[in-house]
Amino acid sequence: MICPRCRSTEAGTVAHSPVAGHWTMNSCSVCWYAWRSTEPATATDPDAYPVEFRLTAEDITTAPRLV
Ligand SMILES: [Zn+2]
Repeated sequence: MICPRCRSTEAGTVAHSPVAGHWTMNSCSVCWYAWRSTEPATATDPDAYPVEFRLTAEDITTAPRLV
């Protein structure tokens, strides 16, 4: 599974709907973006995810950190 925000292939399903088959919850272990399968394409599809909110590997490694 590809993360919509950073396009890592480290994303995967972390939970399923209580009633089977309705939705899945997915999460990316690189940028920690999380999304439900039933959200709009702009939140779930890497190609439709808004360009201004996308992250690159460099964005993640150079992000400011609070101390
Ligand atoms: Zn990600």
